[in-house]
Amino acid sequence: MEKLIITTALTGNVPTKKMNPSLPVTPEEIARDVKACAEAGSALFHVHARDTEEKPSLDPEIFKEIVRQIKKTSPDVIVQLSTGARAGKDWEDRAFPVRLLPEMGSFTTGSNNLPGIIYENSPQFIEFLAKVFQETGVKPEIEVFEPGMINNALFLQKKGYLKGPLHFDFVQGATGSMPGSVKNLLFLSESIPADATWTVAGIGKNEIPLATAAILMGGHVRVGLEDNLHLPDGSQASNVTLVETVVRIARELGREIATPDEARDILGLPKENKDRILDMI
Ligand code: ZN
Repeated sequence: MEKLIITTALTGNVPTKKMNPSLPVTPEEIARDVKACAEAGSALFHVHARDTEEKPSLDPEIFKEIVRQIKKTSPDVIVQLSTGARAGKDWEDRAFPVRLLPEMGSFTTGSNNLPGIIYENSPQFIEFLAKVFQETGVKPEIEVFEPGMINNALFLQKKGYLKGPLHFDFVQGATGSMPGSVKNLLFLSESIPADATWTVAGIGKNEIPLATAAILMGGHVRVGLEDNLHLPDGSQASNVTLVETVVRIARELGREIATPDEARDILGLPKENKDRILDMI
């Protein structure tokens, strides 16, 4: 089995420090968590920006400062910037993190319900964003909240906007969307092209059980406070303890952990794109 890529979704748009005091919010806090999680075994980091009041933000300057801080202390990790909609709905604003030329960006290829909102990604918007990924050469991580989103991604690939092999993240257990189960994970992982790679993001208490299933099935794993605030025993988690939990399980099951460069090889990320973002920030 190929080595395991551990992604950390550090902050997200929803959790607050009140819900979990270890949540990294400022650029300095985010960079500090990246460093600790990278040392624990995480290769890839899914990044959101917050303003000084902890509110989700698409402010380019905040994204730039976060990336500056991360690159200063953890130059080797893979950075994936979010294009999610809780921070704003303007198409260009949502595409901007991709235009900063990170190695990866998140890309939800359809609409679904999430707690309190419709997560709106119209056919016109996803075609627009796919073209931005194509123009910039940034690799999308296709966020799949519902099975139809796989088909939408394959349609965009057929039209030439997305280049294979594709990389999918199966988000399971978000209130309003597909429930988390091994059965669903099996179905999704068998519904993507044979050359595609996949990871799973289990929400809440789905996180560690689905991560364990993915380790056994040959997929990859996303953990972090964006998705889940607790360890399996119910105690409060931090990003580092979640990564450490997955590393421990993977080692017990004989699955080795990928370094950032090994993760680049698995995901087909061109090494020459590693530091393009430095010229943009
Ligand atoms: Zn996110």
